[in-house]
Amino acid sequence: MTVTIPTNDAVWVAGDLYCKTPEALKIALETLRTTGYNVTDQRIDGYSIKEGRTTPEQMEQNGWSLWYARLDDIDRGKCKSCQSYISRQGIRMHGHTCEVCGEVTFYEMIEGSTISFRFVSTEHGWFDPYLRMTVKRWDTDAGWLYLEREIEPGGWSIMTAEQAEVYLDEHSAKWELVDEDDRQLIKLRFHLRHMGDPVNDETVIEPKDIFGHHINYDEVKVWEGKEYSQYAFGDKALPIPESISVYESWHWAPLEASPTLHERIFRAVHSVSDAGYWYQDGRQAWGRDMYERMGVFVRHFTTLDADKWDRESFGFRLDGPGGIADVAQFCHPDAVVENQPNIGNFLVGVTKAIRGERLVGEEEAAFKAAVDGDPSTQDFMRGMNQRRPK
Ligand SMILES: [Zn+2]
Repeated sequence: MTVTIPTNDAVWVAGDLYCKTPEALKIALETLRTTGYNVTDQRIDGYSIKEGRTTPEQMEQNGWSLWYARLDDIDRGKCKSCQSYISRQGIRMHGHTCEVCGEVTFYEMIEGSTISFRFVSTEHGWFDPYLRMTVKRWDTDAGWLYLEREIEPGGWSIMTAEQAEVYLDEHSAKWELVDEDDRQLIKLRFHLRHMGDPVNDETVIEPKDIFGHHINYDEVKVWEGKEYSQYAFGDKALPIPESISVYESWHWAPLEASPTLHERIFRAVHSVSDAGYWYQDGRQAWGRDMYERMGVFVRHFTTLDADKWDRESFGFRLDGPGGIADVAQFCHPDAVVENQPNIGNFLVGVTKAIRGERLVGEEEAAFKAAVDGDPSTQDFMRGMNQRRPK
């Protein structure tokens, strides 16, 4: 899945396009534009430039992407009733209709949908369960939701029938029982709200999730008259990338060996060179193909011995901390690997403790470092203590 650029001085690394010379750049941008990409100059339209946080010179020297190519306007909705391509604007709003045939594209809830919710403006702890009920109907004009009287069971996050009855009792002012066709329904205020509408203070519930939507559309991509699936891989996927970052490597390459060069190489393949980010128990973090992609970058944009890389990287470890150490060591004998404490490792530690499993390898050290040293972990723990349910 790539676009062929007719020059050897334009090189693909991990889905990004690196141009080695101004001439190669010219060819690359021309090719992208004729392929249908909308190409913008990041030195003018880049987010950081507009925010005044960088200059074009800094972007060039730091090796940022300087051009951004994007296939615009290829996302389409497809009505399942008439098979027409339609706008995606509002397509997932309750009661929205197809602009071609007039059929409804989406209902948030229909008879038989289940909704998990709590009543608004009440004190809840993070882990307090929700009430789950079955929808009878939703009168969006009047703003009433009608629910079957029976309580639906669920997992640990859903109230049991006994809990639900107590909870309904506590909030009895917010709903009423109505008779309909010889059965009882719960009727409560729930208004249809469109994006940007003010919060309607009559609405008495906060839904957590709703299952059983009525969905009468697909999301597809249409490029050069052909339809591609939104999420598929292989044949059904768009044959070229939807967006491409383009780099001008002549400002900064080739990069010399240095104690931090490995960080740049990890960045080039969109990965993380901080050992603290990864699992610490030796499990595999990536495949060999990542070292192949890195090898392309090493060959074209560093002064390192790329043939040696191709031979030796076959022996590099595949777990996060091990692999980072191997790449760093290849780049420079005095390489410094970052190893920041990290909330992820804290959560792994807590999870294993709950399951009664032991921490292995570097996990214990990473767990302790996270508890002691990582500000976001400490925030998290403070938050947990404050929000613990009564
Ligand atoms: Zn239609």
